[in-house]
Amino acid sequence: MSWMDKLASIEALQDAEFDPALVADMQARAARVQARPIRFSSPTFKEYKTEELSGCGKNSFPAFSITAAGCALNCDHCQKKILEPMIPATSPEMLDQKVRDLIMLQNLQGFLLSGGSNKRNEIRYERFLPVVERLKHDFPHLKIAIHTALLDEKLAKSMESAGVDTAMMDVIGAQETIRDVYHLDRPVEDFEATLAALTSTKMEIVPHIVIGLHYGRILGEQNALDIISRHPVHSLVLVVIMPFYAKPGTFATPSEHDVGRIFLAARETIPHRQVLLGCARPAGMHKRVTDSYAIMAGLDGIAFPAEGAVAVSEAIGRPYHQEHACCSIKIGSDIGGAAHTKAACVA
Ligand code: SF4
Repeated sequence: MSWMDKLASIEALQDAEFDPALVADMQARAARVQARPIRFSSPTFKEYKTEELSGCGKNSFPAFSITAAGCALNCDHCQKKILEPMIPATSPEMLDQKVRDLIMLQNLQGFLLSGGSNKRNEIRYERFLPVVERLKHDFPHLKIAIHTALLDEKLAKSMESAGVDTAMMDVIGAQETIRDVYHLDRPVEDFEATLAALTSTKMEIVPHIVIGLHYGRILGEQNALDIISRHPVHSLVLVVIMPFYAKPGTFATPSEHDVGRIFLAARETIPHRQVLLGCARPAGMHKRVTDSYAIMAGLDGIAFPAEGAVAVSEAIGRPYHQEHACCSIKIGSDIGGAAHTKAACVA
């Protein structure tokens, strides 16, 4: 039976529309896809429940912003809104105190360090790293992730020596997007240089690509995939632009089918590393179709999977398992996939 026919028999996808040519392309790779198990993560920082999978709702992996809600870039897709729900920690002392309090009160297992950028898309973490080092010394079990923005090798090495476990950055592949969406005057090469600096350390490096970042259009995604394929990253996280954060009318919602084609391209370009779908993506039927494409394209994990995800996996013969952990950090064992970047974690 064709995968199109199988999709048609899934109740949660009754009103869904798929691109038959794209589904056929995916089915043509069925043997490879069926050989890869897929992981459904329900992160702990958000209440979560579908008919098929349940969440656990504990806040054991919060995000701190070292600039509170401040950011000098004010990108068109975000307008600093991504920072708003983060816990402000604008001085090293504040970070130290808040982390220690949360360890006492809530059994904190780890945290994400983030913040707004300066005009060069850099986040000035230097003075916070001694606190990270002390916390890691006192609580070796803590998993610490950082959203790096652009940096040089010196800062990457300092993060490594402070004990940061996972470093995440958004990779942008189109100069027009850097200029127009980020209002940033730096070349695409600086994103690759940052990735090179990060992957020269022992930290686990998890780049992200925001599909549709160019006002909802597909533009530099393939170039971003090519950049990432040249470096020994731990895994790649794909998220889909959420026009919700932008000024009304400035961003289109990318079509699910375009997003599905990027999934397939990601799988082909980066065949031997984990490629994961992070939590930021449009909701509703869009999400059901997007997630179905992710499963059929052979991605390795999905955060907050939509209704129908289990049924699609079963229909096409892909083994799956559920994980009750932040998809960024698989608490208590290895550091798993990702999806806890500023672009991804507050969907
Ligand atoms: S995406 Fe990052 S750099 Fe851009 S406005 Fe949001 S917080 Fe600032």
